[in-house]
Amino acid sequence: MIKYILNCKNNHEFESWFSNSEEFEKLKKKNLLECIFCGSKKISKSIMAPMVSSTIDSSVNTEKKLRKERENLIKLRNYIEKNFEYVGSNFSEKVRDIYYDKSSKKTIYGTTTLKEREELAEEGIELLSVPWVDKEN
Ligand SMILES: [Zn+2]
Repeated sequence: MIKYILNCKNNHEFESWFSNSEEFEKLKKKNLLECIFCGSKKISKSIMAPMVSSTIDSSVNTEKKLRKERENLIKLRNYIEKNFEYVGSNFSEKVRDIYYDKSSKKTIYGTTTLKEREELAEEGIELLSVPWVDKEN
């Protein structure tokens, strides 16, 4: 059973039950639907409310997803801070030392400029860049 809110041409509004959505169309075609207030046979379904709430839901979901994404990035940042050695803006220098000294197993992190990264890439040193989120805010 489906409940529809129906409107007549005189703007009367009333509820009616149907066994399914086709039954409404069938009854309407045969002129068997009429307004319970004025008897008008010009009946239409009114627009359903859930359309509106579904757009609100999806924006809430997006916000949740973004928050989750941020939490993951913070976890990643915490992991790097705990396990890697911070070398700051000396990163490209240090990474070269490690790369050419095969015995070194150090893992470091730091900041590079785009130019430094291009130079390192030319030397065959591939870097993993990580979005660095602010933990505060
Ligand atoms: Zn009516």
